[in-house]
Amino acid sequence: MLKYVYNFGGGRAEGKAVMKSLLGGKGANLAEMTNIGLPVPPGFTITTEVCTYYYAHNHHYPTSLAKEVFQAIQKLNKAMGAKFGDPKNALLVSVRSGARSSMPGMMDTILNLGMNDVVAEGLIKKTNNPRFVYDSYRRFVQMYGDVVMGVRPKGKHDADPFEAIIEAKKKSRGVHLDTDLTADDLKDLVHAFKKAIKQNTGKEFPEDAEEQLWGAVGAVFSSWNNERAIAYRRMNNIPGAWGTAVNIQAMVYGNMGDNSGTGVAFTRNAATGEDEFYGEYLMNAQGEDVVAGIRTPLHISELKKARPVIYKQLDGIRKTLEKHFRDMMDIEFTIQEGKLYMLQCRAGKRTALAAIRIAIDMVKERLIDDKEALMRIEPEALNQLLRPIFDLKEKDAAINGGRLFAKGLNAGPGAATGRIVFSAQDAEEWKSRGELVILCRSETSPEDIKGMDASEGILTAFGGMTSHAALVARQMGKICVVGCSALQIDYSTHSMKVNGKTIKQGDWISIDGSTGEVMEGKIPTRPSEVMEVLISKTVDPKKAPIYQSFAKIMQWSDKYRRLRIRTNADQPDQASNAVAFGAEGIGLCRTEHMFFGEGKIGPMREMILADDVDQRKTALAKLLPFQREDFEGIFRAMNGCPVTIRTIDPPLHEFLPHDIETQQQLAQSMGIKFEKVQRRVEELHEFNPMLGFRGCRLGIIYPEITEMQSRAIFEAAANVIKEGIPVHPEIMIPLVGNVKELEHQEKLVRRVADEVMKEKKAKFPYLVGTMIEVPRGALTADEIAHVAEFFSFGTNDLTQTTLGVSRDDSARYLIPYVEKDIYLKDPFEAIDQNGVGALMKIAVEKGRSTKPRLKIGICGEHGGEPSSVEFCHRIGLDYVSCSPFRVPIARLAAARAALKDLKAKKK
Ligand code: PEP
Ligand code: MG
Repeated sequence: MLKYVYNFGGGRAEGKAVMKSLLGGKGANLAEMTNIGLPVPPGFTITTEVCTYYYAHNHHYPTSLAKEVFQAIQKLNKAMGAKFGDPKNALLVSVRSGARSSMPGMMDTILNLGMNDVVAEGLIKKTNNPRFVYDSYRRFVQMYGDVVMGVRPKGKHDADPFEAIIEAKKKSRGVHLDTDLTADDLKDLVHAFKKAIKQNTGKEFPEDAEEQLWGAVGAVFSSWNNERAIAYRRMNNIPGAWGTAVNIQAMVYGNMGDNSGTGVAFTRNAATGEDEFYGEYLMNAQGEDVVAGIRTPLHISELKKARPVIYKQLDGIRKTLEKHFRDMMDIEFTIQEGKLYMLQCRAGKRTALAAIRIAIDMVKERLIDDKEALMRIEPEALNQLLRPIFDLKEKDAAINGGRLFAKGLNAGPGAATGRIVFSAQDAEEWKSRGELVILCRSETSPEDIKGMDASEGILTAFGGMTSHAALVARQMGKICVVGCSALQIDYSTHSMKVNGKTIKQGDWISIDGSTGEVMEGKIPTRPSEVMEVLISKTVDPKKAPIYQSFAKIMQWSDKYRRLRIRTNADQPDQASNAVAFGAEGIGLCRTEHMFFGEGKIGPMREMILADDVDQRKTALAKLLPFQREDFEGIFRAMNGCPVTIRTIDPPLHEFLPHDIETQQQLAQSMGIKFEKVQRRVEELHEFNPMLGFRGCRLGIIYPEITEMQSRAIFEAAANVIKEGIPVHPEIMIPLVGNVKELEHQEKLVRRVADEVMKEKKAKFPYLVGTMIEVPRGALTADEIAHVAEFFSFGTNDLTQTTLGVSRDDSARYLIPYVEKDIYLKDPFEAIDQNGVGALMKIAVEKGRSTKPRLKIGICGEHGGEPSSVEFCHRIGLDYVSCSPFRVPIARLAAARAALKDLKAKKK
């Protein structure tokens, strides 16, 4: 029979840390902490298998579950010397969700379960602390009413019905804080809450402990599929099939008075990675109080002064946990009447900066090796190191000009400027109109995550470094300032008061997530330290510690990766940037991008409007020197690295003006009739230009275009070689679906190469290859490989043609498609491995069946997306090519792919 319940407590647990799939992260680590002797209140975990069963069986549980839970409760009763549901000596429990991968605040928690009117009376007798008892009771009814019975705000601007009752009570009693309410006040709240539940749901609040327990378990399982959990999973690629576990644990109380409290902490600084205890706590508080942002908590260093003995014990646990888990951990603890308990530990979320610093420090401390360090850093996180900072002069000017109007906590580093919005929904709407926005909230809640994602930065009035806003923003890599208490936000008027000044929705503000400063107006941003060292070269690398860490990670990545990394660039400066980021060649130079520069679009249009071959050749002759000069610049910048240059690809109509006025101007400037321009535009019109007269079809019908481009490339190669710089051009023919297309173009290119070598008396190596970007090309790759010296997957077109989805018009339905889980990710962002990927595999196998050492790469946008890079590694490509700023991400992703492979092979 399957085991569905795992117990922990009294120094022994049935589970352990490696059982995360079954017990969820929280359950597995509660078991592990118990096993290593940390003070964990006893409890048990209902496995994730029950959750999957629950969804597969129309919200029913396995039949053996009730018995297992009953036995576990008996065990718990024994361990605690109390009894669940016993009016005289009741055991209260917490019921909490816990998925395999942590989903902070996304699912639901219920504390103090088992409470009812008679239990409350019994507990008062036992503890002689009526305030504590009624505080616990009102929290329970509130959480249960919300999570299990569904009493919550109706609209986004509506108040929480329970909070409204508390506010009314505080007002009538003339107090400000929850802690100022007396036991009688809290008792009144319990009754008022129950009444509100009855009014809202028509149901009585359940008094029976067992009924409460099963209600809570069902609600936790149901919360796996609530809207915010689904949205969070989508953003973090967590499969819906995983399910959550449920943890039921004996309560310990941080709200028993001034000698009790609760806190959350990180074993190192989660923003900077510094090796310091980093956390917050509140005395006389329970559960979510610290992260909910209702009271601003105290820094953990205050605990050292206020309770040195507890602090010492906690600091000892911090060290034990780091040694044991060999990672920076995020912990939750409670102090009950001076005694410390651990309620949770998990690998701590951190900024990219912190992730890198911690990984490097832990290698130095010999806790982990460099391979593991790389596996701890998400490639996309490097974006945070490359992100803008404020232009310091502009920022100083703003501050000296009196525009600094508040300061909060520096929760998510970086600089953001944008227009103020006050709701997550507005953030999404404004962003979709192309606005930059800063989301300003009193505090954020899990419902806000989509709006947070749409914002440049997040600013909150309440909450600490571990508040919801701070945690989630950091994980998203958003710039974030929290706990900015000077803000008085008024949602009803869409405005906020800051030190007597009122600012409104739509006004510009700038926030510095590294210092916590909030400034009025728009402040221009500047590149990060890494950018300043690598690109503008304005900072000495030796004086740039962030750059040094970045360089170390890149060095380790290069040690382990097998894939080469190239870049997509068509200008010398782009090529130089990419080289600075570590590119080892150009994987795609789109020559048509070069036709838009100064002096080039004229001859290009002349070429398109030509009446015959001779006219076309005359126009092309004008373009040739421009192209040659561009290629010379690129060859010099790449200094001998391979440069893949693609012959013209887009449909010709893209180069002609489409409005009548510009067409008239063009006719005038070229001294031809307007009607002729108009006629040509009409002739070039196509119903499906993406499937039309483009790619190699252009070079086949107008061979003089390929001839001019090849000549420009080879003449540039000969000239640069004469300067003593090696060159390795690779001429790439686009949109080939039939080997004969490639044969046609290849012959032409080789003839021109021979001519140029003779004329220039120069010799240079070169290759002729093709893009694989239509299904027929992939399916006949064995034939194509007889001619091609290399393949490069154009996964933008291959996705378009394989899925039959227009790459230019698909956002309208692809975004909803992703929301409906039809595709896990936008297939134009991450390779659709089962479809497009299958064709790629076929092409690799067939291509190499003809030429075993055929060089194969990718140059579609997917070349810089980590899951796609991993896929390219797995199917045996030689390189990926991506935009310059993604090169560091691709380097790290390639190393991680190689390390994963290594690990899998060892198993
Ligand atoms: C591609 O199709 O993937 C590609 C790189 O070419 P383009 O995006 O220019 O069509
Ligand atoms: Mg293409």
